[in-house]
Amino acid sequence: MNYLSLSDYLKQTYGQKVYKISLQSGCTCPNRDGTLSVGGCIFCSEGGSGDFATPLLPVKEQIDIAIKKVEQKLPAGKEHKFIAYFQSYTNTYGDTAKLRALYEEALSDDRVVALSIGTRPDCIKDDMLEALKNLQTKYGKKIWVELGLQSIHESTAKRINRGYPLPVFEDTYRKLKEAGLTVIVHVILGFPWETETDMLETIRYLSSLSPVLDGIKLQLLHVLKGTRLGEDYLHEPFHVMELQEYCDLVVKCLKLLPKETVVHRITGDGPKKLLLAPLWSGDKKKVLNTLNRAIKLS
Ligand code: SF4
Repeated sequence: MNYLSLSDYLKQTYGQKVYKISLQSGCTCPNRDGTLSVGGCIFCSEGGSGDFATPLLPVKEQIDIAIKKVEQKLPAGKEHKFIAYFQSYTNTYGDTAKLRALYEEALSDDRVVALSIGTRPDCIKDDMLEALKNLQTKYGKKIWVELGLQSIHESTAKRINRGYPLPVFEDTYRKLKEAGLTVIVHVILGFPWETETDMLETIRYLSSLSPVLDGIKLQLLHVLKGTRLGEDYLHEPFHVMELQEYCDLVVKCLKLLPKETVVHRITGDGPKKLLLAPLWSGDKKKVLNTLNRAIKLS
């Protein structure tokens, strides 16, 4: 089965491999700072979905440090390209002028070919939308906006303490697409109360979006220490997906997606030191091999 992976898309678009560097904007999250709630989403660890990001420094310095780190592992003497990825917490939650300046600093770096901003659909005000649209035009570099949806089901939204209903996502999606921005949606597979039908309904819904969804991240539910989900699990362990079960489900999801939708991720990338379950997900090499075999055979 064929699907459009992120690495293929990047090679097609930029003519070479492109690497992501994780940066920080210093934003918090309304679901953690008390505006919506203090506990955050029940699966989210203290690092706010970005436990690998570099320390908070001026953007230029963060970029230099992150690129140096990536380039240590790459052959010397070649010019590499990068995506500046603001990953942790809610990166449109703050003063628009200040954030605009941060994003402009990243976009003005010649080594950066695109900007990726992780956020929530209820935290993109009109002036932020306008700022992102203008920056994309000014620099001629794509701006990706990554929205944490996780599931379309309201019962799940409540259980995970997401803090916004589906119509908010729909409205923001439409505005982002009208502004010409690239939208990537995060989905979590494996909430213990969701059936396979529920999860495939989320994928079907996203596959039917108009205009077509630019990108999706499929992420296995990681139960992490220091999260409310982790506490529940330690108190009373619940069913987590088996590796083969997850691989079969991912294949079904990929079959439903439009061929234009770029698949950014088919597994999770959680911090191993915090992982409580499923423990097999800590062996990333094995997970990817099993996933790729299942996809090839389908
Ligand atoms: S919205 Fe994102 S950063 Fe905020 S609590 Fe939820 S997962 Fe964590």
